[in-house]
Amino acid sequence: MIEFENVTKVYPDGTKAIEEVSFTVEEGTTTVLVGPSGCGKTTSMKLVNRLEEPTEGTVYVDGVDNMAQDRIDLRRNIGYVIQEIGLFDHMTVGENIATVPELREWEQSRIDERVDELLELMDLPGNYRDQYPRELSGGQQQRIGVARALAADPDILLMDEPFGALDPITRDNLQDEFLEIQDRINTTILFVTHSIDEALKMGDQIAIFDVGEIVQYDTPTEILQNP
Ligand code: ADP
Ligand code: ADP
Repeated sequence: MIEFENVTKVYPDGTKAIEEVSFTVEEGTTTVLVGPSGCGKTTSMKLVNRLEEPTEGTVYVDGVDNMAQDRIDLRRNIGYVIQEIGLFDHMTVGENIATVPELREWEQSRIDERVDELLELMDLPGNYRDQYPRELSGGQQQRIGVARALAADPDILLMDEPFGALDPITRDNLQDEFLEIQDRINTTILFVTHSIDEALKMGDQIAIFDVGEIVQYDTPTEILQNP
């Protein structure tokens, strides 16, 4: 669960990125933050895993003020997917996916099992395991980015324009696939996009941002009925 309570973020240069923002992402659901560039979506995202800290207000993660949590423990529990996936080019697909489990010194057999599970979840054939990222298409690379973020089974997944760099058809396919995956994992997801269509498709709840504030916060059905 993620809860923003009257959160304001002012950057050191005086830019007020968000002001008095409140919303809740219930466990196992997806909330989409949608709005034009510069309205505070990424800042909100970064406040969850403490890449930024709030100036005022509180961000609760699993019911506890995230500023009161150990930052390493907090981040262990949060997967992060961004537009520029940043796969490690010198590592195979399998090694990329295994990054976090390796850091945590899981047993090799458990790592192997988890990598197989994730390749299957992301609809990637097992023989992709030993390929290198550059041998794959953009859509396949982004699937691996998602698999890597899910590898250690985090409670929370942050997705910042995860499909933004893909062509429209690949994006549409990945959205459909990810909707199915959402049903199979019990992960709390905060998803950022500037596309209202993507928001309506992916979100259980949608927060429409406009320069630092939420102007509408509702389910897709309610937003379509009261635009
Ligand atoms: P979005 O994700 O909706 O594009 P951001 O959260 O990235 O919006 O940015 C919100 C506002 O905060 C913008 O005006 C942006 O220029 C500003 N901003 C973002 N990061 C910083 C920073 N590190 N220092 C100063 N201003 C920033
Ligand atoms: P997005 O639109 O995807 O949120 P941006 O291109 O606005 O991202 O920002 C990219 C990076 O630059 C982010 O890490 C953000 O924090 C930082 N940034 C954005 N605006 C500013 C700013 N005015 N001053 C300093 N850093 C900024």
